[in-house]
Amino acid sequence: MSYDPIKTKLENNKIIILDGGMGAELEKNGAEMDKHMWCGKCSVDHPELVRKVHEDYINAGADVITTNTYSTTPISMRQYGYEDSIEKFNQKSVKVAREAIENTNKNTALAGSVSTFGNFYKLGIKAMIPGFHEQLKILSEAGVDLIILEAMSSQADIVEAMLNCSTKVNIPVWLSVSCVMDDQKNIMLGYNDTIDSDTHVYENFETSINNFKKLHSGPILVAHSDINITGKAIETAKKNYDGILGAYPNKGYYEKPHWRFVDDMTPAGYLNEVKSWIKNGAQIIGGCCGIGVDEIKAISILKN
Ligand SMILES: [Zn+2]
Repeated sequence: MSYDPIKTKLENNKIIILDGGMGAELEKNGAEMDKHMWCGKCSVDHPELVRKVHEDYINAGADVITTNTYSTTPISMRQYGYEDSIEKFNQKSVKVAREAIENTNKNTALAGSVSTFGNFYKLGIKAMIPGFHEQLKILSEAGVDLIILEAMSSQADIVEAMLNCSTKVNIPVWLSVSCVMDDQKNIMLGYNDTIDSDTHVYENFETSINNFKKLHSGPILVAHSDINITGKAIETAKKNYDGILGAYPNKGYYEKPHWRFVDDMTPAGYLNEVKSWIKNGAQIIGGCCGIGVDEIKAISILKN
């Protein structure tokens, strides 16, 4: 599989279905979450479970699945004593995802997740850049079809640093960022920290988009954000960006190291939300934390 079928579909205004969250689905399948590395260790400790979750998403209709590498960033791995296993963990995640694609025999593309996971904010951007380069290199050399820069929860200057690093790889790059609503009901770059119940507000999302597009012409996705602000965030993005847009929000909240579910929205309810985002201009839809196989299956009827 290559990126070409996805590219063609996007150019023809078709809807692309992305997978949902990995950690919570792994837990549903009996995997243990690591205190530091969250679900990242599962690719090595329980590859059969990671493979199963990928297969479940592919069978549910995902056109693109994402490697279980969100939490295996070089910086977080070094921080927690896995400095000798950075390549091994990231390569293994690509391998199990590839096996899932082969086993299901579907035309699924593989996205490599490069993220800002870890104790980055204390370190400063300069210390983060080598880690971005390292994870981008490992994943692209291991044969992913595209990269998703999962810059969720990150400040604009970190997002820009990631975008600059991503120009070194010669596969397509998607960008995902998170949004929140401030007290004046403006859509802002930021995130809800469910651990300290704090909302981190960085800057007006409109400003962010206008700066990101100077460095990036690929898809931009609103991710790891609340479902109820995602529509407005897509609207804001659409007004400021001519490129392709997408969304993969959260459902529920995080209580380290587990994602807690809330039952306030059924898969059919999620489908209704997704339909409104497509009307607002989103073309790539999936799910982040708390959105699982059932929701992906429900929205995959939107594929055209
Ligand atoms: Zn999330």
